[in-house]
Amino acid sequence: MKIIVLPGDGIGPETMATTVEVLEAVSRRFDLGLELIHDIAGHESLKRHGSTVTPALLEKVRAADGLMLGPMATYDFKDEARGEINPSKFFRKSLDLYANIRPARTYPGMPARLGEFDLVVVRENTEGFYADRNIESGSSEMLITPDVVISLRRITRLCCERIARSAFELAMTRDKHVSIVHKANVLKIADGMFIDICHEVGQEFREVRVDDFIVDAMMAHVVRAPQRFDVIVTTNMFGDILSDLTAELSGSLGLGGSLNAGSEHAMGQAAHGSAPDIAGQNIANPFSLILSAGMLLGWYGQRKGLQSFLDANAAIEKTAAAAVAAHEATRDVGGTLGTRETGAAFVARLLSA
Ligand code: ATP
Repeated sequence: MKIIVLPGDGIGPETMATTVEVLEAVSRRFDLGLELIHDIAGHESLKRHGSTVTPALLEKVRAADGLMLGPMATYDFKDEARGEINPSKFFRKSLDLYANIRPARTYPGMPARLGEFDLVVVRENTEGFYADRNIESGSSEMLITPDVVISLRRITRLCCERIARSAFELAMTRDKHVSIVHKANVLKIADGMFIDICHEVGQEFREVRVDDFIVDAMMAHVVRAPQRFDVIVTTNMFGDILSDLTAELSGSLGLGGSLNAGSEHAMGQAAHGSAPDIAGQNIANPFSLILSAGMLLGWYGQRKGLQSFLDANAAIEKTAAAAVAAHEATRDVGGTLGTRETGAAFVARLLSA
């Protein structure tokens, strides 16, 4: 499997260096034959190539089997005409990575303030309120007068159907429960259609229990009793916000792995951003990126029918859980180690299991 590795900005270089060590170790242990191809995106690429991402890089990614994207300084990138393209949007849109899969679970050994839970947010990734990706060219956010802005939201049958299918297929491998999150009391037509399509797709998965929640009420439900949920399917913006909440409820944003998957390509990417406040201090939690790398291997294994890749993902998850339980981790999850030391301990544990 060929994986393009892009370290990114902020804490990205530190957490990606650790993730690369883990990928190399897991490749040895499970004989995966991983080929890691290192390149750049974000600020470094802007400096060197005049653009945060380039067409040549996209071609390399298309030719590879997977992409690991480090956190990017998205907030700094404002003007596409000056090469300041949001790399995350660029790959999600160019590779049609429509499903953002964001698991959140508690781990033994960490205080579970809300009790134990294990859920996955399945977030639509290619349209919704995201002005940078929901129209063919330009932006769907317009400055009408200096004091008036209009931002458009796009919801389509195709995108609703495919994200619903991803959620139901995932639920079949878990507790067979899908919760639809929406705002159909206000966005009656768009979210009404989203709910209807989710139920339509659900007809093909008779064993799966389905319920639905208005997004604002969902915030209360998920904080009150996250164990009520298994797979949560929702549109882009709601999923972005809800999945940060669920990652943080699990203990730390630093534990939030995530996969962006389409029908042909996939990209592992931590659920958090570039965290410039803690960059360069060797204190960032690398687990979110390591778990995302595991998810990428799992996606490839499923697609190609390769058990060794599924086993590698399971071993990464198991090692992360054991490391958190043993406090062999960074401060945000109750450990005392730095990013590099957490990575070294992770590799040792992975190889000795
Ligand atoms: P960006 O502008 O790139 O989104 P941000 O700092 O606004 O960056 P996040 O990167 O998501 O947003 O971080 C929010 C906070 O969560 C950070 O200030 C940081 O303290 C914490 N955090 C995020 N990721 C990690 C991590 N991997 N390890 C430890 N703490 C983290």
